[in-house]
Amino acid sequence: MEVPQTHGLSYNTADQWEIDRTSVKLLNKLGAGQFGEVYEGLWNDTTAVAVKTLKPGTMDVKDFLQEAQIMKKLRHPKLIQLYAVCTVEEPIYIITELMKNGSLLEYLQKDKGTELVISDQLEMAAQVAAGMAYLELQNYIHRDLAARNVLVGENNICKVADFGLARVFMMENENVYEAKEGTKFPVKWTAPEAIHSSKFTIKSDVWSFGILLYEIMTFGGMPYPTMTNYQVVQRLPTGYRMPNPPRCPMMMYEIMSDCWKENEMDRPTFETLQWKLEDFFDLDVTSYDDGNRYQ
Ligand code: AMP
Repeated sequence: MEVPQTHGLSYNTADQWEIDRTSVKLLNKLGAGQFGEVYEGLWNDTTAVAVKTLKPGTMDVKDFLQEAQIMKKLRHPKLIQLYAVCTVEEPIYIITELMKNGSLLEYLQKDKGTELVISDQLEMAAQVAAGMAYLELQNYIHRDLAARNVLVGENNICKVADFGLARVFMMENENVYEAKEGTKFPVKWTAPEAIHSSKFTIKSDVWSFGILLYEIMTFGGMPYPTMTNYQVVQRLPTGYRMPNPPRCPMMMYEIMSDCWKENEMDRPTFETLQWKLEDFFDLDVTSYDDGNRYQ
């Protein structure tokens, strides 16, 4: 599908992204989000697309469209691409590229996940790091990076999705997004400084990325499996961190642990994470599949 060029420009909702909803046929339901449903669709009887619908009356339309507004400005092969919107009438549609295998969390947990080998896991992690490195460069923060918010296409292709919570941040001293009172956190994915001081930065995304690596290496296991959210919040400041999961190469655990450094500035950049994971992936399998390298 031809995607409008957006660089350096901003648009209203009634813009070249707007299409006639009769050109989109909704086929089967793929999933349900908090405020609506996601369908597989066919655009102009030719292009397979994903259609996110907003249930009328469930949420402020402006908030829902903010997700689309952010997506209009971002373009990268490892981020879900916005194709079009239908905002003239309700239900509002956000139309994006279709990812055949759904969310990474489901993919890891289902039969497919058990077929994955370490090189696949590394490759998937490197792809997410590449998408996040682009966000880092664009001064965006995601704020809800987790396996449930990464989508999978053919051949284990992974793309970062769900920019609903993303906020652009300013270059000067405002590189922190202050959460509003009452905001709900996905506690086990959220960096301590984000939980305690609402300090969301690209470095709190790096923390979440470490948790996502844990999800990848455990085929969609729950982080801190034996602990409640409350226990996690209590124990992180004492220096507690998750141990290396079974069959996870030490080098991978070291990367996770770097993401969980207490001081945000000690955590790596996504650019570094991307090249480390890519280099690791390029290594001959025998050099990291060696039993000596496991914890
Ligand atoms: P969301 O409301 O974005 O969390 O989406 C709910 C569910 O719909 C996800 O967990 C996926 O299984 C599915 N989904 C969302 N977007 C897409 C997409 N672009 N392609 C395929 N499946 C999707």
